[in-house]
Amino acid sequence: MSFSSLGLSAPLLKAVAEQQYTQPYPIQQEAIPAILKGKDVLGIAKTGSGKTAGFVLPLLEKLQNTPQSRNRYINTLVLVPTRELAVQVAEVFKGLSSHLPRRIKTLAIYGGVSINPQMMVLSGTEVLVATPGRLLDLLSSKAVHLSEVETLVLDEADKMLNLGFEEEVNKILSLLPAKRQNILFSATLGNEIEQLIKGQLHEPVRIEIQEEAQPLEQIKQLAYLVTPERKGPLLRYLIRQGNMPQVLVFVSATRTADNLVAKLTKNGIEAAAMHSKKSQGARTEALNRFKSGKLPVLVATDLVSRGIDIQQLPYVINYDLPRSPKDYIHRIGRTGRAEATGEAISLLTPDDRHHFRIIQKKMGRQVEILETNDLDLQGS
Ligand code: AMP
Repeated sequence: MSFSSLGLSAPLLKAVAEQQYTQPYPIQQEAIPAILKGKDVLGIAKTGSGKTAGFVLPLLEKLQNTPQSRNRYINTLVLVPTRELAVQVAEVFKGLSSHLPRRIKTLAIYGGVSINPQMMVLSGTEVLVATPGRLLDLLSSKAVHLSEVETLVLDEADKMLNLGFEEEVNKILSLLPAKRQNILFSATLGNEIEQLIKGQLHEPVRIEIQEEAQPLEQIKQLAYLVTPERKGPLLRYLIRQGNMPQVLVFVSATRTADNLVAKLTKNGIEAAAMHSKKSQGARTEALNRFKSGKLPVLVATDLVSRGIDIQQLPYVINYDLPRSPKDYIHRIGRTGRAEATGEAISLLTPDDRHHFRIIQKKMGRQVEILETNDLDLQGS
């Protein structure tokens, strides 16, 4: 199947080709025609499935054929759980709309940064990608209006509820016109999501993508057994000996992240940390530098393991093992994305071995574990 058979017009096909999307992913094959028809959509899919382009492309197509909305009256509202996802989704809107004859303004708004600059650039926005709290702030100061919203997208709805945004989301829903198109994406479908869907989605087209096994196949997994005090030297040894051009390193605590960055830097390996105690500005800067290839090592807590799409990332290292097998899969899913292969390496202390067995069992995969006692890490 090709993108041209999905009902998208030439400027969007051109943008798709520019992104080097050769053929639509399964979720796109189903979501694009359904959204173009104006149907509500319930998508059970994770990041990595191509869900973003799955809703962005048909929504841009529809916006092209809709008169420009009144100033500060949003046409398309995308609610997302995190700032990072807001920025990322807005970028997909911008990238895919680059050839459209009518300019469609997309804006990402999120908390943790000062509100004034966001208010100043709101004018003319047709697509607003927002985290719930910041949107409510803007609504209460009447900087935007939702009474003419035609389409609502709830992206990563399960995460939104997990992060405790239920009240905010319900408040926002109550401000939307009853007649609108609804698109909801969630990685899982629990009771709370069912509750949220009830009364909101009307006869939705249900799309379920089972993609967990598929990406795992694209990822080479490896583990090294190491004593806690040799973890730092081993990390540096792996980065150097493996000639790793770029690596995302996961740790379990913000303190470890900062310490590790200090050690790497001291040993001549450029690195930055990304965790919840960093300011939004520092987080965005680190991520942007990493994404553009300028920063070779990003050390992160699980904050970035979901939702953040870094194209073609070749290496992920679990410096600390995550608690849940689910987090392990999310973390290693940062590599080997979109048909690229990647390598995921875990550093295991003797205490981690039992837990790693559980992770392997849950994942249904055996991972080769290498001893490192004989490795000379002096000078690493
Ligand atoms: P998402 O699940 O929306 O976060 O997308 C995951 C990744 O897949 C992103 O890097 C997209 O750029 C990429 N992608 C989306 N659709 C396609 C496609 N049809 N062909 C190749 N890559 C794609």
